[in-house]
This record gives sequence, C-alpha cells and structure tokens, in this order.
Amino acid sequence: RTAQEALERLTVDVPDWPQEGVTFKDITPVLADHHAFSAIITALAAAGRDDHGNVVVDKVVGMEARGFILAAPVALALGIGFVPIRKAGKLPRETHAVSYALEYGEATLEVHRDAIDAGDRVLMVDDVLATGGTVAATQELIEACGGTATGVAVLMELGFLDPRSRTGDLPVSTLLTI
Ligand code: IMP
Repeated sequence: RTAQEALERLTVDVPDWPQEGVTFKDITPVLADHHAFSAIITALAAAGRDDHGNVVVDKVVGMEARGFILAAPVALALGIGFVPIRKAGKLPRETHAVSYALEYGEATLEVHRDAIDAGDRVLMVDDVLATGGTVAATQELIEACGGTATGVAVLMELGFLDPRSRTGDLPVSTLLTI
C-alpha cells in the first residue's frame, strides 16, 4: 500500500519522451526518497517469497539499466545473488544472447553463461513492463542457462500495451497498473 502510494505520488510523467507520442514514466524521484525506495524494494521482494515468508527463488536478475537499481537490493533483501542482464557487448566472458524486436529495430540482451546454474529458480525485476519484449527475452536467457523463470516483479505495468500477450502465463507482480 505505502509502496503504491509513493509510486503514484513521486513518479513523473514525461510527455513525448524519448519520442513524440510516448509518455515516459520517470521513477528517479522514487529512488531519491529513502522511505519510498525502501518501500518499493520490500514490495518487489515479496514476489520472491511464499505465503509463509520463505524465500522460494535462487537468483534475482535485473535488466539494464534501471532494473539493476531495483534487482540488486531485492537480492540482498532475499539473501540471494544478483545477476545482471546486459545489452550486447558489455559482458566480458562467455554469454548467451537473445535478440528481440523493438518498436523500431532490434535489441540484444546477454547473460554470462555461468551466472545461473541449471535448476535455479530465477525472479526477474525491472521498473516498467511495457510491451513485454524485454521480459520475454530475459526469460529465454534464463532458460538457455538451464534455469527456470518463476516470475517478474515490476513497479509498473503499462496495461494498454498488452505486455501479457508477450509474457504468456509467466506470473507478473506489479505495484501499479496503468
Ligand atoms: P518492453 O520491453 O517494451 O516491455 O519495455 C520495457 C523496458 O523498457 C524496461 O526495461 C523499461 O525500463 C523500459 N521502459 C519502457 N517504457 C518505460 C517508461 O515509461 N519508463 C521507464 N522505463 C520504460
């Protein structure tokens, strides 16, 4: 509840950014407020626990770049490791790579091959779920490592872009649906 209120109060809508017709949800003011930041991390971390509070995942992955800021403290809150999902060409060792379609053009995401163990249950964390392309690609990377994506936790889901048509039956926990 508090997390949701803080998000609604502090997120800034930026019209026509990064391009005309798109309203960008700027969550940086949420991060700059200690109480709000703390509340959203606690709320996101709940996606990695069962009803009794037991941690039911082995790793948390965050997607470059805002996903890093959220996924790392979620991993610490759950007492498990953090794995970065990076844009092409950034990771120094052997990777799995997945390319996916953007509105205009294509993007590639990578993960270190040894960052996720076979059988690992993995929670994805990002700020905004828009078309669902980033999450679908990340799920493929987790599976390429032999892991299982247990779900995705986001601050906001842009329901009008119909992300769940890309994420299928993957459990989505969101603090706010727009
Ligand atoms: P998708 O792949 O279309 O679901 O886009 C999700 C990715 O784009 C996430 O990594 C988000 O960080 C980013 N993104 C898309 N729209 C917004 C927005 O309005 N605010 C912040 N990030 C966004």
